[in-house]
Parts: sequence; structure tokens; C-alpha cells
Amino acid sequence: MPGNPSQESTQNGGRRLDQAGAWRRGEAVGGVCHTAEVRTSGPLGARSVESLVERLVAVPGREGRLRHLEVLAPRPAVHADWPAWAPAAVRDAFVRAGVERPWQHQAVAADAAHAGDHVIVSTGTASGKSLAYQLPALSDILGHRGIRGERGAAALYLAPTKALAHDQLAGLRDLRLDVRLSAHDGDSSREEREWTRHHAEYVLTNPDMLHRSLLPSHARWASLLGSLRYVVIDECHHYRGVFGAHVSHVLRRLRRVCAMYGAHPTFVLASATAAEPEITAARLTGLDVVALTRDDSPRGQVSLLLWEPPFTSHAGENGAPVRRAASSEVADLLADLVAEDVRTLAFVRSRRGAEQVALTAAELLAEVDPSLPGRVAAYRGGYLPEERRALEGALRRGDLIGLAATNALELGIDISGLDAVLIAGFPGTRAAFWQQVGRAGRGAQDALGILVARDDPLDTYLVTHPETLIGAPVEAAVFDPANPHVLGPHLCAAAQEAPLTEADLPLFGPTAREVLDAVTEAGLLRRRPRGWFWTDRRRACDLTDIRSTGGSAVQLIEADTGRVVGTVDPSGAHNTAHAGAVYVHRGETWLVESLDLEHHVAVMRRAEPPYSTTAREVTDISIVQTRERVGWGGCVLHLGEVDVAHQVVSFLKRRQPGGEVIAEESLDLPERALRTTAVWWTVPDDVLAETGLAALDVPGAAHAAEHCSIGLLPLFATCDRWDIGGVSTARHPDTGVLTVFVYDGHPGGAGFAERGFRSAAAWLAATRETIASCECVNGCPSCIQSPKCGNQNNPLDKAGAVALLDALLLGAPRG
Ligand SMILES: [Zn+2]
Ligand SMILES: [Zn+2]
Repeated sequence: MPGNPSQESTQNGGRRLDQAGAWRRGEAVGGVCHTAEVRTSGPLGARSVESLVERLVAVPGREGRLRHLEVLAPRPAVHADWPAWAPAAVRDAFVRAGVERPWQHQAVAADAAHAGDHVIVSTGTASGKSLAYQLPALSDILGHRGIRGERGAAALYLAPTKALAHDQLAGLRDLRLDVRLSAHDGDSSREEREWTRHHAEYVLTNPDMLHRSLLPSHARWASLLGSLRYVVIDECHHYRGVFGAHVSHVLRRLRRVCAMYGAHPTFVLASATAAEPEITAARLTGLDVVALTRDDSPRGQVSLLLWEPPFTSHAGENGAPVRRAASSEVADLLADLVAEDVRTLAFVRSRRGAEQVALTAAELLAEVDPSLPGRVAAYRGGYLPEERRALEGALRRGDLIGLAATNALELGIDISGLDAVLIAGFPGTRAAFWQQVGRAGRGAQDALGILVARDDPLDTYLVTHPETLIGAPVEAAVFDPANPHVLGPHLCAAAQEAPLTEADLPLFGPTAREVLDAVTEAGLLRRRPRGWFWTDRRRACDLTDIRSTGGSAVQLIEADTGRVVGTVDPSGAHNTAHAGAVYVHRGETWLVESLDLEHHVAVMRRAEPPYSTTAREVTDISIVQTRERVGWGGCVLHLGEVDVAHQVVSFLKRRQPGGEVIAEESLDLPERALRTTAVWWTVPDDVLAETGLAALDVPGAAHAAEHCSIGLLPLFATCDRWDIGGVSTARHPDTGVLTVFVYDGHPGGAGFAERGFRSAAAWLAATRETIASCECVNGCPSCIQSPKCGNQNNPLDKAGAVALLDALLLGAPRG
């Protein structure tokens, strides 16, 4: 194998097999050799991305919209030999499928897994992560089979979605190897399940099935579980927040049950590029995991544009300036690129938004050339397989040049090999962002990526601070396995699987004993000399839904048919499924007619109203317990438990497309109580006095700082601004001084507030910078106005917020 990857230690005890992926930092890896494999091809390469960018920027009226242009250097492919342990049959199958030789990172990861090291492969889109686990798993399955073909070694593959598991299954079938494959999910028949239990060697499923089916009835699955040699966790960056905490305990239960049957499988995780993947993987599995982050697959040159739509002449709330909608800007750019014959995919938030973008682009193109509108389409999802293949074919042949769609995971179509990608609004995490950019430029082809900012603090910060997007490590997936609301039900489920003993507790983390005592106290488990027993008649796994964040889910019912369309968490129901809400479900738009909280039902019908809705909420907070505190000069940062009382009081209607507020309607929903984790900072009176702020301006300054900090926390924690909330007050009864809280919106916390506390200096400095650098005069949605503010974004003081944050940051630790 060329090159010997060095093993280095990281600070936190995890190991890295190499350095972080270099492409996203815009450096060439090993740039002296292999350059012969990098060449530009395709329409973009031939006509130069540079001149294309020049033409996009030169359109009259677009001055100043391009905030940053970054050219990411191409990266050559580095190949390796097939590992000697891989049987010829498996190697030949991959060669037949078009993999002549593995890339080096694939071979290194496969070697590590084959040697029994738990490994996480954290590399870019289309870097062939599947081969890293398929190669050792398929080799071992064939190598350990009995004389009469009986199962010797088995592999369990977990995907966050059913669709992804089926894609994997199709890929494995295409290898045409004599390995017994099976997808096990909610749609499997009784016969299929029976066959899977007795015969399948490579089982593709999801964490939900493990939680509800395989683990509770493990005795029936004993032969499969006892022969497990590999557990594959694909797309593991999806396991974050409360869902991530749930999955981490499902995996611990799996390890415990496997051990009961004598199996100690090797875990292989695959993830989009992420910071500290070995730490996230260790937290997810409870094991020591080696990380592999160097990507040896080839990339062409990528030109990345950060683009900000201009302020419109329209005035927003309290007279604030508002920016042009990202989707309108994307429609223009899509039309321009299609007119230039550049194959482009536009990512838009909702399916309706995608349709609007395609429609607008087609209208613009009709003015240029009547033949062009037919070459732009929206991908609405829900297509039949043959329709999907027709669409793929049309894209490949170039009959179709522009496609507007929601996100790639949902697409279910192979849309690689595009020239350009347009992204309408930052997709929430840097990992998701790079995954979307990675859709452009298959292999060594040159590519163009354009991020168009939405009118909010996070997008504004990113396009004006490209170093936080391009040079920075991608965020780690944040979740908190110690959340007692999550851990408690899983301890019960584990006890039903086999009585829990003292020896089991370390597996479930340092808080396991405390939480176990609490659930025993609550009568859910019984303490006996031989351990803790589940004696209830119910199934313990029914105590919790791993996709829910707590409470009984609200069912979404179609008015005319009574059909259950989906479910939403209770907290989500207040915010998104109240009467009058425009609810987007799997990209489809519905209008909610009524919300019955007593019976957990929201009735809605399909509709296309010319507006979207945003709920607004008021919040009160009291401190239960301070866990940690750190002094910043006279100011103090805190982390701890809080009681939150919050209430959705109204909702805004915003015109679509465009986004201007057209109405605000009040709502009569009950107040809700939430005990959760919060980060808060206090500013004592003497420090406040030094800022020179008039007493009258202090509430607006704190309120503005709170809003903007909520908007920017997603940059540091893998959350959405809707996952967190805040309160600011010039004098809080529990602290006696000015206090600004930011809390996790889920019972027990999801780890987001804690991440805010740990990265407070950087987080609050970014908040200050966003407010100070915004071009508006008195505040706007790009800095201090919040769409969910229950106080009509009033009072807000932009200059005051900067002065307040300056005083706070003066005492912040440097570096
Ligand atoms: Zn502003
Ligand atoms: Zn507010």
C-alpha cells in the first residue's frame, strides 16, 4: 500500500489515522504527485468557471451580492492495492462493479475494521465510504460460512432512514455475490422476518427496529446476534440532539445483548465530514473508536460563492429593512446557469419552495429562448422508480439542465455528476452544507457551488465570515446521553431484555445509577438481590419513542379522510400545528384547521395558501440549580437546570414567495412547563454602569443580544434555532442582575445549551460581530429581530447590544 498512515493521538484519548480532510480547507493533498489524474472536463471545465462567475456577477444590479469567492484546489486520487485478506470473489465483485482498485482511505479503514478496531470514516460525499465496511463484512461472511452453507459471521447495517437501507441493499445486490442479504423494517412480512432470523448474513435495518423489535425479542434473534461480527452505522451525523441520545442507548443495549450471546462485533461508522469524529463515535457507541478523516478520492477544482441578496425597498416589522428572499435569488441564478447550459441542482427548503423556484426560473428562461423552460423541473418526491430513472436519464443526457429539489437524502435519485449546486439558505450544519456542495463535480470535474444567504443572523454571519465556513472544522454532532428523560426508559428496556446488574451500569454512563434509582423509586423497576427487574406487563420499549422528544405525540389527521398523515411532538404542535398554521410535511403544504391538545390531534387539509406561518412565543424562566459557573471579569457564565414556562401567543403570516409579513393573529394556547438545561450570563450593575447605557435602553440591549445569540448557537451546536429558546431581563429575580438565558427546548436538555456554555467566548463574540457588522441602522432580521419573538421584537436596541456584549466579552478568556 503506498504511504503509511501515521497514528497520532488526539487530546481526548481518541485516535486519528490521518489528518483532517484537506479538500474542504482548500489545500491540495500530496500535491506533488498524482496530478496526472486531475484534469478538468465537462462543460464547466471547457468554458472556465472563472468566466462563468464573472458573467453571473456582472448582471446589472447585482453589485455587492457576491460576498466571497473561494477557489478550492483540486485533489488527486490516491489508490491502494486490495488487501491480501480479501477473497478473490469479493475483489472481483467490486472490480465488476467498476472499482478497479480501492482509494487509500478505503483500504486503510477496511484494514482497521478487519483487524477488529472500531473505526469511523468521516469523509466527503462520493468518497466511497461503503466499501470500507462492505469489504471486510462480505469477506468475513464468505470466509466463516459452514460446510453446508450455514451462517458463520453476520453483519448488521443501520441507516437513519428506510430509504437509505434499501439503497444500500440495491448496491449490495448489484455486486452479485453469494451472500444472503435482507432488509428488516416495518414493511417486512412475517415470512421475511423468519428467513432473516434464520438465514440472513447481511441485515439492513434502522435503530427504530432494533429498539422495538430485535432487542425486546432478542431470544428469537439469538443466532443472528450471536454471530454478529460487524455493526455498521451509516450516516451517523444524523444522530444528534435527543434522537442521538436515544440511539446511543439503543446501541449500548445492542452491545449488551450481543455479549450475552458471546458476540463482540466491530463497529464501523460512516459520517459526513465532522469535527472530532472519534469523540462523537465514542459517545454514540460507548467504545474507543479510531477516526479516519483523510479523503483519497479525487476532486476537481471547486469555486465556492457566498452570496447575499440585497435589502428590498419593502419595510418589515417595526420599519426594519428586509432582504430579498433567498429562494427568489436562487430562481434568478438557476435561470442564468441553465441559459449557460450548466447542469445545476438547487436545494430549497420545502417542496413548494422548490416548485416556485423551478416555475420562476422557467418564466425567466422563456423570455430568453422558448425552448429552455422545458429543461428546468422541480423534484416533488414520491415518484415511482421508473419515473425516477427517467429523471436521472434526462439529467444525464442533458435534456434536463436545472432541477430544484429539497434535500439529497430525500431525493432517492442518483444526481451526481452535476456542474453546479445552488443552496437557498445555509442547511443548518456545515456537514450538511459540504454534503450539498459535494453533489457538484463528479470525480475530477470542476464544479461551482453558491450559497445564497437567508435573512437571518446565522446566514449573514457565514457569508460575511467565510473563514467560519471554509477554514473551520465541521461541527461535531451534539447530543447528551446523560439526559435522564432519555436514559430512564432505555434502562427499563434493558432490564426487560435481561435484569440489570451493578456490572451493567458503567455501559450506560456515569449518571446511570442515579437515573436507575429514580425509575426504581417511580415503581418502573424492582430491586431484587440479583439486580433490577422489569415486572410490568407492558413492553418497556413502549415507554419511549426514539424519534420523539418527549410527551405524547400529536397525530396529524387529514380532514376529509381521517387518515393519519404523520405525528409531531407536543412542543412542535404548539409551534407548527396550531389552528391556522401552514404545516409543511415531507415537503407538502397543509393548512391546520384545529388543534385538540386533550386528544392529541391536529386536523388539517392540503392547501396552497399564498403565505407561510411562524409561531411567536413568550417565556418565563427560573433557576433550579447551577451546575457550573465561570467568571468573566465581573460578569458570570452559568450552566444549569431551569424551569421554563412558555406559551405560544400568536402567529405571523408571511407572503410566499417573498416573505413579507402580511398579518399577525393571536392564539389561545395553554402555557407549558419544561425543566431543561440552560446557559445564562449575568452582568452586575457596576459593569453595566461602565457601558454608559441609559437605564431605559438596557432591556432592549439584552433582548437584542439574546435574539442574535440564539440565531448563532447553531454554528457551535448542531441544532436548529427552533430547538432552543431564550429569555432576557434587565433584572432577574433569581440573580438580582441583568441576565440572558438560552435554553434547550427539550425536556432534560439535548446538549445544545451545554455546547453554548463550553464555546461561550467564540459564540458570544460571533454574536457581537454579527450585530455590529450588519448594514441596517436599528436592527433587522439579519441581526437582532427574531421570527419567533412573542414581544413583537420590542424593545430592541442594536447599539446597546453591542455595548453590552463588549462589556461582557472584556472579561472572556482569550484564544
Ligand atoms: Zn441588521
Ligand atoms: Zn424576543
